[in-house]
Amino acid sequence: METLTTQVAIIGAGPAGLLLGQLLYKAGIEHIVIEQRSAEYVASRIRAGILEQVSVDLLKQAGVDQHLKERGLPHSGIEILTNGQKHRVDLSALTGGKQVTVYGQTEVTKDLMTAREAAREAAQLTSFYEAENVQVKDFYGAPQVHFEYQGKAIQIHCDFIAGCDGYHGICRASVPADKIKTFEKVYPFGWLGILADVPPVADELIYVQSERGFALCSMRSETRSRYYLQVPLTDRVEDWSDERFWDELKCRLDIESREKLITGVSIEKSIAPLRSFVTEPMRFGKMFLAGDAAHIVPPTGAKGLNLAASDIAYLSSALVEYYIEGSDQGIDQYSEKCLQRVWKAERFSWWMTHLLHRFETETEFEHKIKQAELSYILGSTAGKTTLAENYVGLPYEIQSVSETCA
Ligand SMILES: Cc1cc2nc3c(=O)[nH]c(=O)nc-3n(C[C@H](O)[C@H](O)[C@H](O)COP(=O)(O)OP(=O)(O)OC[C@H]3O[C@@H](n4cnc5c(N)ncnc54)[C@H](O)[C@@H]3O)c2cc1C
Repeated sequence: METLTTQVAIIGAGPAGLLLGQLLYKAGIEHIVIEQRSAEYVASRIRAGILEQVSVDLLKQAGVDQHLKERGLPHSGIEILTNGQKHRVDLSALTGGKQVTVYGQTEVTKDLMTAREAAREAAQLTSFYEAENVQVKDFYGAPQVHFEYQGKAIQIHCDFIAGCDGYHGICRASVPADKIKTFEKVYPFGWLGILADVPPVADELIYVQSERGFALCSMRSETRSRYYLQVPLTDRVEDWSDERFWDELKCRLDIESREKLITGVSIEKSIAPLRSFVTEPMRFGKMFLAGDAAHIVPPTGAKGLNLAASDIAYLSSALVEYYIEGSDQGIDQYSEKCLQRVWKAERFSWWMTHLLHRFETETEFEHKIKQAELSYILGSTAGKTTLAENYVGLPYEIQSVSETCA
């Protein structure tokens, strides 16, 4: 058995784990990243694509925004299509100039991996990919991480464990039942998504509320589009040929978008279930949960990746305060601060999902009320401002890592 020591053991090399690693590296805090998948698998996962301004700022602070600046697409508005008519929500005008940036999670992950690789030798950064049987131990006392790597047993002794291992990870699952409370809502449908190398149907995202169900016209670049359809959970990807997907999407669009839509061969197709989920608290002794390990949102509000980023902003800042200033304050407040922002994003994601999707169990009365609510929101500056403020991301105050280190 090989024994290593470090300050922070980070479980999971998704965006949360990699971003934390990068911010700790910049602050000179020792850490080790342990990931169960291969680096190639992690770098090729296709997921989110909308970054709030605070996430863009954090990537800049982490020094990994070069490609984001060159290739990210700033969006100052979104379209909502209901009753065959599109309504623009001018995000920038309604929020004092704020916007979102279209930049794929896959690209964020690759940028973070490239930065880590570049700094690896000089800073002695250690990452274990394809780690097997990862276990976290004694996080209320002397934290340890045990795993197998290339047939060898490894044990890491550390000050803290950052559980960035996603919804199915082992960190949350290792917490004793009497120390944790979870809140969950599962939605009775999924999103069938495809990625295709065709130009997007419009310059901005179109959120579609139709009698046939929800659809989203999104994008990853000017030549790569991401489209989604609300589908029953009983559907399988094999049920949906590309042709069937495009035909159904056209049925949910307005005439102008239908005519403009360029279809093509899908390069990825998958069905994602929709879920709202929150864990309280997010700190357990010397182990912190961050990102999907602690909470899940339905993708309707484009918040999953952004919440992972804001957790990491709080956590990195707390660890810097602890190691550089000798203060426990950030660590003690971590869970409370994160959860305040998490619940607001959960509410917004739930609300967007509820408003824009077709629920089979919905009565005619409930349907009419929802239509009236959407009509009110889109016809009122106050209504649209509420939507825009949440969509671009609620503000959060945090001392930047560079400020703390100065
Ligand atoms: C199919 C899909 C589509 C999505 N689309 C959107 C979207 O459009 N918009 C949006 O905002 N969000 C979306 N999300 C959510 C968004 O991708 C996540 O919120 C984001 O990935 C969270 O990052 P994370 O680092 O917390 O978790 P993850 O990205 O899940 O990373 C966790 C990492 O931990 C690793 N891991 C797990 N268990 C272990 C273990 N035992 N030991 C070591 N490592 C482990 C995993 O392999 C993974 O690399 C989507 C998610 C999915 C699954």
